[in-house]
Amino acid sequence: MARRAGRLPAPDPAPRAIIAVDGPAAAGKGTLARRLAAALGLPYLDTGLLYRAVGRRVLDAGADPRDATIAEAAARALVPEDLARADLRGPLADMAASAVAAIPAVRAALLDFQRDFGRAHGAVLDGRDIGTVVFPDAAAKLFVTASVAERARRRFLELAGRGVAADPAQVEAEIRDRDAQDANRPVAPLRPAADALQLDTTTLDADAAFAEALRLVRARLGA
Ligand code: C5P
Repeated sequence: MARRAGRLPAPDPAPRAIIAVDGPAAAGKGTLARRLAAALGLPYLDTGLLYRAVGRRVLDAGADPRDATIAEAAARALVPEDLARADLRGPLADMAASAVAAIPAVRAALLDFQRDFGRAHGAVLDGRDIGTVVFPDAAAKLFVTASVAERARRRFLELAGRGVAADPAQVEAEIRDRDAQDANRPVAPLRPAADALQLDTTTLDADAAFAEALRLVRARLGA
């Protein structure tokens, strides 16, 4: 059938595509993934928020985030409003999220939500195991890294921007601890998928990192 010029909408570069953005703490995945989603016309899901919300529920109950029974119950009871809480970030929430994330039953409880979200309309999802576990068949996978010192510097500035006083050495130590916990857990450890495109943003500012990420993803999508 012949196309009539000017009558068809511009083709969607990534219709219903799944784009996985994984990487260690404070690598700038969130900002990058959100911008990619906007550029590609896809929904965006910050999967770290799910683990943060579970960790927060466990802390609210006065329990230990390593308690598998309580953490699984919290994951199963999660409601969308939990993701909008204002207290999901900060050192305590960071470590609680990482602790509940090491529990297999918690990960299992959150899997369907992530898959349903992506399958509905395609999506850009950021996390630790999107390209390895949640969507191993994702159309494009990015593994975003930066040196620990640079990630700590960015996190320190982000905290300062929110008026939160922090000790730079402490910020770096917490990032190292969380990376170690996420990378060394037996279930869905932080690691790049074999077919992930690596993006080291140590020497890139946010705009340059985004431009490079979009170039890599578009090349992989053939769009
Ligand atoms: O990405 P963010 O730093 O918000 O994630 C918080 C924590 O949630 C991580 O340190 C990690 O333990 C966990 N997480 C995960 N798998 C994901 C996303 C986050 O294990 N897909």
